[in-house]
Amino acid sequence: MGLPLSTKITLPNGIVYDQPTGLFINGEFVPSKSGKVFEVIDPSTEEKITDVYEGFAEDVDIAVDVAEHVFKKTNWATQDPAVRGKLLSKLADLIERDLEILASIESVDNGKAIVLARGDIGLVANYIRSCAGWADKVFGKVVESGDSHFSYSRREPLGVCGQIIPWNFPLLMWSWKIGPALATGNTCVMKTAESTPLSALYACKLLNEAGFPPGVLNIINGFGPTAGSAIATHPKIKKIAFTGSTNTGRIIMKAAADSNLKKVTLELGGKSPNIVFADADIEQAVANISLGIFYNSGEVCCAGSRVYVQDSVYDKVLAEFAKDAAKVKVGNPFDEEVFQGAQTSQMQVDKILSYVKVGKEEGARLICGGERLGTKGYFIKPTIFADVKENMRIVREEIFGPVVTITKFSSINDLIEMANNSEYGLAAGIHTTDINKAIDVSNRISSGTVWINTYNDFHPMVPFGGYNQSGIGREMGAEALDNYTQTKAVRIKLTRKDA
Ligand code: NAD
Repeated sequence: MGLPLSTKITLPNGIVYDQPTGLFINGEFVPSKSGKVFEVIDPSTEEKITDVYEGFAEDVDIAVDVAEHVFKKTNWATQDPAVRGKLLSKLADLIERDLEILASIESVDNGKAIVLARGDIGLVANYIRSCAGWADKVFGKVVESGDSHFSYSRREPLGVCGQIIPWNFPLLMWSWKIGPALATGNTCVMKTAESTPLSALYACKLLNEAGFPPGVLNIINGFGPTAGSAIATHPKIKKIAFTGSTNTGRIIMKAAADSNLKKVTLELGGKSPNIVFADADIEQAVANISLGIFYNSGEVCCAGSRVYVQDSVYDKVLAEFAKDAAKVKVGNPFDEEVFQGAQTSQMQVDKILSYVKVGKEEGARLICGGERLGTKGYFIKPTIFADVKENMRIVREEIFGPVVTITKFSSINDLIEMANNSEYGLAAGIHTTDINKAIDVSNRISSGTVWINTYNDFHPMVPFGGYNQSGIGREMGAEALDNYTQTKAVRIKLTRKDA
């Protein structure tokens, strides 16, 4: 007998709920064709939470056929778009209703602190609601082209969209992908990350409850080289949206080019500079550089992992930052006092600790952390390296953990040179009380987002995405709709009849 399609789970905080374990295809949870399953691990205890079915190319084929049928043979894309808006709005309400369940699933599956997971789910509901508002506000244009023609443009959906998401913000990435896609009338086949499949499956129950027609969103649980690759290479998928590592982004882009030249948007890695000028409010700046790197255990694509501090306040900031790091409570994500939960997997722990070793070998000064906390669970102490040089690997490469480097600067020109000396360009932070300096430096920084006197600060209407090798395209805001629509130009020749 195969794995049941739903299992009752009791979470560490006592919440009991029914967790779907199947693939979500055509509005139903189904076993994968192979019947294979894989384990989902709680990173805080290293124990199994449940198994889920594992999808492969044959399951992707079925999901794509369903999604294509809905797109081409039903009125999903062609009906009054306000209907899709209403469904998304209902979904946002249901996500808010089940916020505590969803946040708890996120904490047990990803290891993130419950206090932060609640914030994630709040952002999910806000973003889905924002997309609900967009659904009936997608406009073409009437183009003045002289009285011999009537010319106008329409913005039409693309068709079946493939979406591959990571494990650091499982449900938030789900919402950033499905929100604009469904608002604009596309259908989706999504692969969730193999280490965090649970919240998206639960949210698909809410999709059904909200009344979405079956097949508009299909979810394949599975691994990159199998299910992920089947999506990236599928000839019927018109567009692929990916969030994850830059290396995998390269693979996806090649696969898209070699198959059917699907449109590609990528949200990739980063090594973002977080800058403190001498005239900053130091207390606030230290709080923000701490948030910039220890938020979500450092598993954030836009983490402020390179801190630059002006020389006259360097010693003070370093001392305050070390004090702040020592105060970050690490441990059981369900403890309301904990800010930094577990890293997501053993693989991440190994990667982070290998960079700590590299940092020491490169001659950087370890100020604090640099080791695991406890023997069970993937916990790592907040880690600060000072006295770094710009060519060190710990300054150049994405670590994706609670590890930060601090560099001293004196002139703005030197600072800009160092801040922009990266293959990435996702985000940057600037801390200063001088508005001229804030704007001038933000103009000269090569990154898709600049936060001034704040960090990791998102809003559904503010676009997010990368310069350089941090990505292609923007998520959230009006820009997100561009990823999921194409422009059709219509030109009508007019004939003047005098009679
Ligand atoms: P990854 O990029 O390999 O995984 C992200 C997603 O891509 C997952 O769903 C995965 O299954 C899928 N994937 C992997 N290989 C694929 C392939 N060949 N074809 C299609 N899909 C594929 O990232 P990872 O291995 O989980 O983590 C490695 C590093 O990536 C991290 O240490 C971190 O530096 C970076 N990362 C960045 C983000 C981000 O938000 N930018 C998120 C996760 C990981």
